[in-house]
Amino acid sequence: MADIKLVEQADVAGKRVLVRVDFNVPIADGVVTDDTRIRRALPTIAYLVGKGAKVILMSHLGRPSGTGYEEKFSIKPAADRLAALVDAPVAFAGDTIGPKAKEAVQNLAGGQILVLENLRFDKREKKNDPGFARALADLAEIYVNDAFGTAHRAHASTAGVAHLLPAYAGYLLQNEVATLTGMLDDPKRPFVAILGGSKVSDKVGVIDSLIDKADTIIIGGGMCFTFLLAQGKAVGASLKEEEWIDRAGEMLKKADAAGCKILLPSDVVVADRFAEDAAVSTVPVDAIPADMMGLDIGPETAKAYADAVAGGKTVFWNGPMGVFEMRPFEAGTKAVAEAMAANAEGDTIIGGGDSVAAVNKFGLADRMTFISTGGGASMELVEGKALPGVEALK
Ligand code: ADP
Ligand code: MG
Repeated sequence: MADIKLVEQADVAGKRVLVRVDFNVPIADGVVTDDTRIRRALPTIAYLVGKGAKVILMSHLGRPSGTGYEEKFSIKPAADRLAALVDAPVAFAGDTIGPKAKEAVQNLAGGQILVLENLRFDKREKKNDPGFARALADLAEIYVNDAFGTAHRAHASTAGVAHLLPAYAGYLLQNEVATLTGMLDDPKRPFVAILGGSKVSDKVGVIDSLIDKADTIIIGGGMCFTFLLAQGKAVGASLKEEEWIDRAGEMLKKADAAGCKILLPSDVVVADRFAEDAAVSTVPVDAIPADMMGLDIGPETAKAYADAVAGGKTVFWNGPMGVFEMRPFEAGTKAVAEAMAANAEGDTIIGGGDSVAAVNKFGLADRMTFISTGGGASMELVEGKALPGVEALK
Protein backbone atom coordinates (compact mmCIF):
# COMPACT_ATOMS: atom_id res chain seq x y z
CA MET A 1 0.00 0.00 0.00
CA ALA A 2 2.96 2.22 0.61
CA ASP A 3 3.18 3.20 -3.03
CA ILE A 4 -0.49 4.11 -3.46
CA LYS A 5 -1.89 7.53 -2.54
CA LEU A 6 -4.96 7.34 -0.34
CA VAL A 7 -8.06 9.51 -0.65
CA GLU A 8 -7.39 11.19 2.68
CA GLN A 9 -4.12 12.56 1.27
CA ALA A 10 -5.96 14.52 -1.43
CA ASP A 11 -7.03 18.15 -1.01
CA VAL A 12 -10.61 17.76 -2.19
CA ALA A 13 -12.52 20.71 -0.71
CA GLY A 14 -14.51 22.46 -3.44
CA LYS A 15 -12.85 20.30 -6.11
CA ARG A 16 -14.53 18.13 -8.74
CA VAL A 17 -13.66 14.56 -7.72
CA LEU A 18 -14.40 11.74 -10.16
CA VAL A 19 -14.90 8.47 -8.28
CA ARG A 20 -14.98 5.04 -9.93
CA VAL A 21 -17.39 2.99 -7.81
CA ASP A 22 -18.77 -0.49 -8.29
CA PHE A 23 -22.53 0.02 -8.58
CA ASN A 24 -22.94 -3.13 -10.66
CA VAL A 25 -25.95 -4.19 -8.58
CA PRO A 26 -28.87 -6.51 -9.36
CA ILE A 27 -32.00 -4.63 -10.43
CA ALA A 28 -35.57 -5.88 -10.92
CA ASP A 29 -38.40 -3.68 -12.20
CA GLY A 30 -36.30 -0.55 -11.78
CA VAL A 31 -35.45 -1.28 -8.13
CA VAL A 32 -32.11 -2.38 -6.67
CA THR A 33 -32.62 -5.82 -5.07
CA ASP A 34 -29.25 -6.03 -3.27
CA ASP A 35 -27.53 -2.77 -2.35
CA THR A 36 -24.43 -4.31 -0.71
CA ARG A 37 -22.05 -2.82 -3.26
CA ILE A 38 -23.58 0.66 -2.89
CA ARG A 39 -23.25 0.44 0.89
CA ARG A 40 -19.63 -0.65 0.63
CA ALA A 41 -18.87 2.56 -1.31
CA LEU A 42 -20.46 4.82 1.33
CA PRO A 43 -17.34 5.47 3.47
CA THR A 44 -15.52 7.10 0.53
CA ILE A 45 -18.59 8.98 -0.67
CA ALA A 46 -19.43 10.26 2.83
CA TYR A 47 -15.81 11.31 3.37
CA LEU A 48 -15.75 13.35 0.15
CA VAL A 49 -19.15 14.91 0.85
CA GLY A 50 -17.99 15.80 4.35
CA LYS A 51 -14.92 17.53 2.93
CA GLY A 52 -17.07 19.62 0.60
CA ALA A 53 -15.97 17.96 -2.63
CA LYS A 54 -18.12 17.96 -5.76
CA VAL A 55 -18.54 14.22 -6.02
CA ILE A 56 -18.98 12.68 -9.48
CA LEU A 57 -19.66 8.93 -9.37
CA MET A 58 -19.21 6.57 -12.31
CA SER A 59 -19.74 2.82 -12.68
CA HIS A 60 -20.65 0.13 -15.14
CA LEU A 61 -23.76 -2.01 -14.75
CA GLY A 62 -24.29 -5.37 -16.42
CA ARG A 63 -23.31 -6.10 -19.99
CA PRO A 64 -24.96 -3.63 -22.36
CA SER A 65 -24.07 -3.83 -26.06
CA GLY A 66 -21.92 -0.68 -25.93
CA THR A 67 -23.86 1.11 -28.65
CA GLY A 68 -25.69 3.64 -26.49
CA TYR A 69 -28.51 3.87 -23.97
CA GLU A 70 -30.44 0.71 -23.04
CA GLU A 71 -33.11 1.23 -20.41
CA LYS A 72 -32.62 -2.10 -18.65
CA PHE A 73 -28.96 -1.26 -18.01
CA SER A 74 -29.53 2.31 -16.81
CA ILE A 75 -27.76 3.06 -13.55
CA LYS A 76 -30.57 5.38 -12.43
CA PRO A 77 -32.02 2.82 -9.95
CA ALA A 78 -28.63 2.68 -8.22
CA ALA A 79 -28.56 6.49 -8.01
CA ASP A 80 -32.05 6.42 -6.48
CA ARG A 81 -30.94 3.85 -3.93
CA LEU A 82 -27.83 5.89 -3.09
CA ALA A 83 -30.02 8.95 -2.49
CA ALA A 84 -31.84 7.01 0.24
CA LEU A 85 -28.56 6.06 1.91
CA VAL A 86 -26.62 9.36 1.99
CA ASP A 87 -27.18 12.66 3.64
CA ALA A 88 -26.52 14.76 0.54
CA PRO A 89 -28.33 15.74 -2.65
CA VAL A 90 -27.88 13.14 -5.43
CA ALA A 91 -28.34 14.22 -9.06
CA PHE A 92 -28.43 11.84 -12.02
CA ALA A 93 -26.65 12.94 -15.19
CA GLY A 94 -28.54 11.02 -17.87
CA ASP A 95 -25.38 10.46 -19.91
CA THR A 96 -21.70 9.79 -19.24
CA ILE A 97 -19.45 12.27 -21.06
CA GLY A 98 -22.09 14.05 -23.12
CA PRO A 99 -23.71 17.49 -22.78
CA LYS A 100 -26.02 16.43 -19.95
CA ALA A 101 -23.10 15.24 -17.81
CA LYS A 102 -21.09 18.38 -18.55
CA GLU A 103 -23.98 20.63 -17.62
CA ALA A 104 -24.73 18.65 -14.44
CA VAL A 105 -21.07 18.92 -13.41
CA GLN A 106 -21.24 22.71 -13.94
CA ASN A 107 -24.24 22.88 -11.61
CA LEU A 108 -22.65 20.78 -8.88
CA ALA A 109 -21.86 22.51 -5.58
CA GLY A 110 -19.48 21.33 -2.85
CA GLY A 111 -20.96 18.49 -0.81
CA GLN A 112 -23.25 17.40 -3.63
CA ILE A 113 -23.24 14.16 -5.60
CA LEU A 114 -23.73 13.49 -9.31
CA VAL A 115 -24.11 9.96 -10.72
CA LEU A 116 -23.10 9.46 -14.36
CA GLU A 117 -24.92 6.99 -16.62
CA ASN A 118 -23.57 3.45 -17.22
CA LEU A 119 -19.97 3.66 -18.49
CA ARG A 120 -20.43 0.60 -20.69
CA PHE A 121 -23.11 2.28 -22.84
CA ASP A 122 -19.97 3.41 -24.69
CA LYS A 123 -17.84 0.55 -25.97
CA ARG A 124 -14.73 2.69 -25.62
CA GLU A 125 -14.86 2.14 -21.84
CA LYS A 126 -13.83 -1.52 -21.98
CA LYS A 127 -11.29 -0.80 -24.72
CA ASN A 128 -9.52 1.66 -22.44
CA ASP A 129 -9.85 4.15 -25.29
CA PRO A 130 -7.62 7.21 -24.72
CA GLY A 131 -10.25 9.64 -26.05
CA PHE A 132 -12.91 8.26 -23.73
CA ALA A 133 -10.51 8.38 -20.77
CA ARG A 134 -9.66 12.00 -21.70
CA ALA A 135 -13.35 12.97 -21.79
CA LEU A 136 -13.89 11.41 -18.36
CA ALA A 137 -10.82 13.19 -16.98
CA ASP A 138 -12.05 16.52 -18.37
CA LEU A 139 -15.07 16.31 -16.05
CA ALA A 140 -12.92 16.53 -12.91
CA GLU A 141 -9.75 17.66 -11.16
CA ILE A 142 -9.08 14.59 -9.00
CA TYR A 143 -9.66 10.87 -9.56
CA VAL A 144 -10.46 8.29 -6.89
CA ASN A 145 -10.78 4.56 -7.56
CA ASP A 146 -13.00 2.70 -5.10
CA ALA A 147 -14.13 -0.10 -7.42
CA PHE A 148 -12.12 -3.11 -6.30
CA GLY A 149 -14.47 -5.43 -8.20
CA THR A 150 -13.21 -4.11 -11.57
CA ALA A 151 -9.61 -3.46 -10.52
CA HIS A 152 -8.45 -6.52 -12.50
CA ARG A 153 -9.64 -4.89 -15.73
CA ALA A 154 -7.71 -2.18 -17.58
CA HIS A 155 -10.65 -0.03 -18.70
CA ALA A 156 -10.89 3.72 -19.34
CA SER A 157 -12.49 4.38 -15.95
CA THR A 158 -10.14 2.10 -13.98
CA ALA A 159 -6.79 2.58 -15.70
CA GLY A 160 -6.86 5.20 -18.49
CA VAL A 161 -8.25 8.08 -16.48
CA ALA A 162 -5.92 7.35 -13.54
CA HIS A 163 -2.97 8.48 -15.66
CA LEU A 164 -4.63 11.77 -16.59
CA LEU A 165 -5.55 13.14 -13.15
CA PRO A 166 -4.00 13.04 -9.67
CA ALA A 167 -5.18 9.56 -8.65
CA TYR A 168 -6.05 8.15 -5.22
CA ALA A 169 -7.44 4.95 -3.69
CA GLY A 170 -10.82 5.07 -1.93
CA TYR A 171 -11.43 3.33 1.39
CA LEU A 172 -13.00 0.17 -0.03
CA LEU A 173 -10.18 -0.40 -2.49
CA GLN A 174 -7.60 0.29 0.24
CA ASN A 175 -9.31 -2.09 2.60
CA GLU A 176 -9.57 -4.89 0.03
CA VAL A 177 -5.95 -4.61 -1.07
CA ALA A 178 -4.62 -4.25 2.50
CA THR A 179 -6.65 -7.21 3.80
CA LEU A 180 -5.82 -9.60 0.96
CA THR A 181 -2.15 -8.69 0.63
CA GLY A 182 -1.79 -8.70 4.42
CA MET A 183 -3.27 -12.20 4.46
CA LEU A 184 -0.76 -13.40 1.85
CA ASP A 185 2.34 -11.60 3.12
CA ASP A 186 1.94 -11.81 6.87
CA PRO A 187 -0.87 -14.18 7.95
CA LYS A 188 -1.48 -15.10 11.56
CA ARG A 189 -0.72 -18.83 11.75
CA PRO A 190 -1.95 -21.41 11.30
CA PHE A 191 -3.21 -20.13 7.95
CA VAL A 192 -6.02 -22.38 6.69
CA ALA A 193 -7.36 -21.99 3.14
CA ILE A 194 -10.61 -23.62 2.04
CA LEU A 195 -10.94 -24.09 -1.70
CA GLY A 196 -13.93 -25.45 -3.57
CA GLY A 197 -16.26 -24.49 -6.39
CA SER A 198 -16.74 -26.31 -9.59
CA LYS A 199 -13.49 -26.63 -11.53
CA VAL A 200 -9.81 -27.14 -10.74
CA SER A 201 -8.94 -25.44 -14.01
CA ASP A 202 -10.49 -22.16 -12.72
CA LYS A 203 -8.44 -22.24 -9.55
CA VAL A 204 -5.02 -23.63 -10.45
CA GLY A 205 -3.30 -20.27 -9.95
CA VAL A 206 -4.99 -19.74 -6.60
CA ILE A 207 -4.12 -23.22 -5.33
CA ASP A 208 -0.52 -22.93 -6.53
CA SER A 209 -0.08 -19.58 -4.82
CA LEU A 210 -1.67 -20.75 -1.55
CA ILE A 211 0.46 -23.93 -1.36
CA ASP A 212 3.42 -21.60 -0.78
CA LYS A 213 1.62 -19.53 1.86
CA ALA A 214 -0.90 -21.63 3.78
CA ASP A 215 -0.31 -24.26 6.48
CA THR A 216 -3.40 -26.25 5.50
CA ILE A 217 -5.51 -26.33 2.35
CA ILE A 218 -8.95 -27.86 2.56
CA ILE A 219 -10.36 -29.06 -0.75
CA GLY A 220 -14.04 -29.57 -1.51
CA GLY A 221 -16.54 -28.83 -4.27
CA GLY A 222 -16.49 -30.29 -7.75
CA MET A 223 -12.72 -29.83 -7.96
CA CYS A 224 -12.04 -32.41 -5.25
CA PHE A 225 -12.87 -35.24 -7.67
CA THR A 226 -9.95 -34.41 -9.96
CA PHE A 227 -7.68 -34.61 -6.89
CA LEU A 228 -9.26 -37.93 -5.87
CA LEU A 229 -8.62 -39.20 -9.42
CA ALA A 230 -4.98 -38.15 -9.03
CA GLN A 231 -4.90 -40.41 -5.97
CA GLY A 232 -6.18 -43.27 -8.09
CA LYS A 233 -9.74 -43.28 -6.78
CA ALA A 234 -12.85 -43.83 -8.91
CA VAL A 235 -15.30 -40.93 -8.77
CA GLY A 236 -18.29 -42.30 -10.69
CA ALA A 237 -20.29 -39.69 -12.57
CA SER A 238 -18.86 -36.76 -10.56
CA LEU A 239 -17.52 -33.63 -12.23
CA LYS A 240 -14.05 -34.44 -13.52
CA GLU A 241 -11.43 -32.74 -15.62
CA GLU A 242 -9.35 -35.55 -17.11
CA GLU A 243 -6.76 -33.19 -18.56
CA TRP A 244 -6.04 -31.72 -15.12
CA ILE A 245 -5.47 -34.98 -13.22
CA ASP A 246 -1.68 -34.92 -13.66
CA ARG A 247 -1.56 -31.27 -12.64
CA ALA A 248 -3.63 -32.03 -9.54
CA GLY A 249 -1.18 -34.82 -8.67
CA GLU A 250 1.72 -32.40 -9.05
CA MET A 251 0.03 -29.93 -6.73
CA LEU A 252 -0.35 -32.64 -4.09
CA LYS A 253 3.38 -33.39 -4.37
CA LYS A 254 4.32 -29.73 -4.31
CA ALA A 255 2.24 -29.21 -1.16
CA ASP A 256 3.92 -32.19 0.47
CA ALA A 257 7.36 -30.77 -0.30
CA ALA A 258 6.33 -27.32 0.94
CA GLY A 259 4.98 -28.64 4.24
CA CYS A 260 1.45 -27.57 3.37
CA LYS A 261 -1.12 -30.09 4.54
CA ILE A 262 -3.88 -30.87 2.04
CA LEU A 263 -7.20 -32.20 3.28
CA LEU A 264 -9.41 -34.14 0.86
CA PRO A 265 -12.86 -35.60 1.54
CA SER A 266 -13.19 -39.00 3.22
CA ASP A 267 -16.90 -39.23 2.40
CA VAL A 268 -19.24 -37.60 -0.10
CA VAL A 269 -22.93 -37.07 -0.70
CA VAL A 270 -23.81 -38.67 -4.03
CA ALA A 271 -26.93 -38.40 -6.20
CA ASP A 272 -28.25 -40.19 -9.26
CA ARG A 273 -29.01 -36.86 -10.98
CA PHE A 274 -28.06 -33.17 -10.75
CA ALA A 275 -31.41 -32.26 -9.20
CA GLU A 276 -33.00 -31.14 -5.95
CA ASP A 277 -35.20 -34.27 -5.84
CA ALA A 278 -32.50 -36.78 -6.84
CA ALA A 279 -32.00 -40.05 -4.96
CA VAL A 280 -29.24 -39.24 -2.46
CA SER A 281 -26.87 -41.22 -0.26
CA THR A 282 -23.58 -40.78 1.61
CA VAL A 283 -20.63 -43.00 0.71
CA PRO A 284 -16.91 -43.25 1.56
CA VAL A 285 -14.65 -41.82 -1.19
CA ASP A 286 -13.40 -45.34 -1.90
CA ALA A 287 -16.89 -46.52 -2.80
CA ILE A 288 -18.48 -43.95 -5.12
CA PRO A 289 -20.91 -45.93 -7.32
CA ALA A 290 -20.14 -45.70 -11.03
CA ASP A 291 -23.54 -44.19 -11.89
CA MET A 292 -23.67 -41.61 -9.07
CA MET A 293 -22.21 -38.09 -8.87
CA GLY A 294 -20.73 -36.43 -5.79
CA LEU A 295 -22.51 -33.15 -5.12
CA ASP A 296 -21.36 -32.34 -1.57
CA ILE A 297 -18.74 -33.39 0.99
CA GLY A 298 -20.11 -35.95 3.47
CA PRO A 299 -20.80 -35.37 7.20
CA GLU A 300 -17.54 -37.00 8.38
CA THR A 301 -15.56 -34.73 6.03
CA ALA A 302 -17.61 -31.69 7.07
CA LYS A 303 -16.73 -32.39 10.72
CA ALA A 304 -13.00 -32.77 9.93
CA TYR A 305 -13.03 -29.56 7.85
CA ALA A 306 -14.89 -27.64 10.56
CA ASP A 307 -12.27 -28.76 13.11
CA ALA A 308 -9.46 -27.55 10.84
CA VAL A 309 -11.23 -24.21 10.37
CA ALA A 310 -11.69 -23.86 14.13
CA GLY A 311 -7.92 -24.12 14.62
CA GLY A 312 -7.02 -21.47 12.05
CA LYS A 313 -5.83 -17.99 13.03
CA THR A 314 -6.23 -16.89 9.42
CA VAL A 315 -8.97 -18.62 7.44
CA PHE A 316 -9.49 -17.82 3.76
CA TRP A 317 -12.39 -19.35 1.88
CA ASN A 318 -13.07 -19.47 -1.84
CA GLY A 319 -15.49 -21.86 -3.50
CA PRO A 320 -18.48 -23.77 -2.07
CA MET A 321 -18.00 -27.33 -0.77
CA GLY A 322 -20.98 -28.61 -2.73
CA VAL A 323 -23.94 -27.56 -4.83
CA PHE A 324 -25.19 -25.37 -1.98
CA GLU A 325 -27.90 -23.86 -4.19
CA MET A 326 -29.83 -27.15 -3.76
CA ARG A 327 -31.05 -28.13 -0.31
CA PRO A 328 -29.78 -31.76 -0.24
CA PHE A 329 -26.24 -30.60 -1.08
CA GLU A 330 -25.85 -27.50 1.12
CA ALA A 331 -24.71 -29.11 4.39
CA GLY A 332 -20.96 -29.19 3.67
CA THR A 333 -20.83 -25.55 2.63
CA LYS A 334 -22.96 -24.58 5.60
CA ALA A 335 -20.72 -26.51 8.04
CA VAL A 336 -17.62 -24.70 6.79
CA ALA A 337 -19.36 -21.30 6.88
CA GLU A 338 -20.60 -21.95 10.43
CA ALA A 339 -17.13 -23.01 11.57
CA MET A 340 -15.72 -19.77 10.16
CA ALA A 341 -18.46 -17.73 11.86
CA ALA A 342 -17.72 -19.48 15.17
CA ASN A 343 -13.97 -18.82 14.92
CA ALA A 344 -13.93 -15.60 16.91
CA GLU A 345 -10.15 -15.41 17.36
CA GLY A 346 -9.10 -15.87 13.76
CA ASP A 347 -9.26 -13.54 10.77
CA THR A 348 -11.96 -14.98 8.52
CA ILE A 349 -11.80 -13.77 4.93
CA ILE A 350 -14.05 -14.73 2.03
CA GLY A 351 -13.53 -14.17 -1.68
CA GLY A 352 -15.48 -15.33 -4.73
CA GLY A 353 -18.98 -14.57 -5.94
CA ASP A 354 -20.64 -17.89 -5.11
CA SER A 355 -18.93 -18.27 -1.75
CA VAL A 356 -20.17 -14.82 -0.74
CA ALA A 357 -23.66 -15.77 -1.96
CA ALA A 358 -23.49 -18.92 0.20
CA VAL A 359 -22.52 -16.97 3.32
CA ASN A 360 -25.35 -14.52 2.67
CA LYS A 361 -27.79 -17.38 2.13
CA PHE A 362 -26.87 -18.83 5.53
CA GLY A 363 -27.14 -15.40 7.20
CA LEU A 364 -23.53 -15.49 8.46
CA ALA A 365 -22.02 -12.57 6.56
CA ASP A 366 -21.75 -10.17 9.49
CA ARG A 367 -19.84 -12.74 11.53
CA MET A 368 -16.89 -12.79 9.13
CA THR A 369 -13.85 -10.52 9.44
CA PHE A 370 -13.86 -9.53 5.79
CA ILE A 371 -15.91 -10.29 2.71
CA SER A 372 -14.35 -9.23 -0.55
CA THR A 373 -16.54 -7.37 -3.05
CA GLY A 374 -14.34 -8.54 -5.90
CA GLY A 375 -14.82 -12.08 -7.18
CA GLY A 376 -12.38 -12.11 -10.08
CA ALA A 377 -10.25 -9.29 -8.67
CA SER A 378 -9.71 -11.01 -5.33
CA MET A 379 -8.78 -14.29 -7.06
CA GLU A 380 -6.24 -12.53 -9.29
CA LEU A 381 -4.74 -10.78 -6.30
CA VAL A 382 -4.44 -14.07 -4.40
CA GLU A 383 -2.82 -15.62 -7.48
CA GLY A 384 -0.18 -12.94 -7.20
CA LYS A 385 -1.17 -11.04 -10.35
CA ALA A 386 -0.89 -7.25 -10.53
CA LEU A 387 -4.28 -5.53 -10.81
CA PRO A 388 -4.31 -2.79 -13.51
CA GLY A 389 -6.71 -0.61 -11.49
CA VAL A 390 -4.35 -0.70 -8.52
CA GLU A 391 -1.16 -0.39 -10.57
CA ALA A 392 -2.55 2.75 -12.23
CA LEU A 393 -2.69 4.46 -8.83
CA LYS A 394 1.05 4.05 -8.30
P1 ADP B 1 -16.77 -18.82 -6.38
O1 ADP B 1 -17.71 -17.98 -7.21
O2 ADP B 1 -17.01 -18.67 -4.91
O3 ADP B 1 -15.32 -18.59 -6.76
P2 ADP B 1 -17.04 -21.09 -8.15
O4 ADP B 1 -17.63 -20.21 -9.17
O5 ADP B 1 -15.70 -21.65 -8.39
O6 ADP B 1 -17.08 -20.37 -6.71
O7 ADP B 1 -17.97 -22.36 -7.94
C1 ADP B 1 -19.29 -22.26 -7.48
C2 ADP B 1 -20.14 -23.35 -8.05
O8 ADP B 1 -19.59 -24.65 -7.83
C3 ADP B 1 -21.50 -23.39 -7.39
O9 ADP B 1 -22.48 -22.97 -8.30
C4 ADP B 1 -21.69 -24.84 -6.97
O10 ADP B 1 -22.98 -25.33 -7.27
C5 ADP B 1 -20.64 -25.55 -7.80
N1 ADP B 1 -20.26 -26.82 -7.18
C6 ADP B 1 -19.81 -27.05 -5.94
N2 ADP B 1 -19.60 -28.35 -5.70
C7 ADP B 1 -19.92 -29.00 -6.84
C8 ADP B 1 -19.95 -30.39 -7.23
N3 ADP B 1 -19.59 -31.33 -6.37
N4 ADP B 1 -20.34 -30.67 -8.47
C9 ADP B 1 -20.71 -29.70 -9.32
N5 ADP B 1 -20.72 -28.38 -9.02
C10 ADP B 1 -20.34 -28.04 -7.79
MG1 MG C 1 -18.41 -18.24 -9.24
